[in-house]
Amino acid sequence: MSHDPNCIFCKIIQKEIPAATVYEDEHVLAFMDISQVTKGHTLVIPKKHQKDIYELTPDVASHLFTVVPKIAQALKDTFEPVGLNLVNNNGKEAGQTVFHYHMHLLPRYGKGDGFG
Ligand code: 5GP
Ligand code: ZN
Repeated sequence: MSHDPNCIFCKIIQKEIPAATVYEDEHVLAFMDISQVTKGHTLVIPKKHQKDIYELTPDVASHLFTVVPKIAQALKDTFEPVGLNLVNNNGKEAGQTVFHYHMHLLPRYGKGDGFG
């Protein structure tokens, strides 16, 4: 399925609900997480509705991992963190709550920054 009308991230892609866009191209969208675990907490998603790492197709995965370092660099330049975590939860038991693949980019600011 390339689009799921009941999926919150598909609605963001369709601009049916607003999000603060960080990066966008034909295949990928990056936007600020609504709940900023750390300052600059960003989600990177494929525009195709692929629910998790097991559904992610190689073409989409390859493009995603081409743009993630660029987005990481832009977050570094903007927020000047001291580190960055990439997090991807797959499955309810692993903490996945939105079943449209997403990579969390979590800029880190040291102890007590809200994550880990
Ligand atoms: P997960 O727990 O599935 O790895 O992460 C889902 C993430 O999506 C959460 O961090 C949550 O805050 C974020 N999220 C859920 N709904 C929305 C929304 O409507 N807009 C934005 N920007 N983020 C959302
Ligand atoms: Zn979706």
